[in-house]
Amino acid sequence: MTKPFWQRKSLKEMTTAEWESLCDGCARCCLEKLEDEDTGKVYYTNVACRLLDCEACRCSDYENRMKRVKDCVKITPEEQFFWLPKTCGYRRVAEGKDLEWWHPLVSGNPDTVHEAGISVRGRVGGIEGKVRVRDYPDYLVRWPMLEPKGSSKNKKLEPGKKKSRAKKA
Ligand code: SF4
Ligand code: SF4
Repeated sequence: MTKPFWQRKSLKEMTTAEWESLCDGCARCCLEKLEDEDTGKVYYTNVACRLLDCEACRCSDYENRMKRVKDCVKITPEEQFFWLPKTCGYRRVAEGKDLEWWHPLVSGNPDTVHEAGISVRGRVGGIEGKVRVRDYPDYLVRWPMLEPKGSSKNKKLEPGKKKSRAKKA
């Protein structure tokens, strides 16, 4: 049986459609973050980007997002993935891990990312523009960087199954 594309292709080898489908629709990366200037460590808040549809967990203007939100980061295979949630499909594949059961590519159901409690649905505490940036420290949360109990966080693909990892910039 042919292995699914994320198990046999590197991020760079994926087609545009494959690349886009790696996003599980959690919207964790659309939460506002604070960066420690000394260490580069990234801390998540539960304040959502102003363009995020917090119920659907989708960008409300995906095509124009880069023009409308200056700090929206376009994720590419050359990206450094450390700042993304450990559950993120891109980060997992870049780290040589398989996708989890809740990922729509595995479950065949776009709702499983919500049912598993991975998405931000029901967990947003504020919206960018309505919360003062200086108050962001009050909105810091740990859950966007955590994996749920029982997840196979260390489940790696067997050696040799991936051709290469994403290039680190
Ligand atoms: S964190 Fe990753 S999987 Fe989740 S919405 Fe962002 S890019 Fe997609
Ligand atoms: S502009 Fe869209 S994709 Fe970018 S962070 Fe905001 S909601 Fe997410």
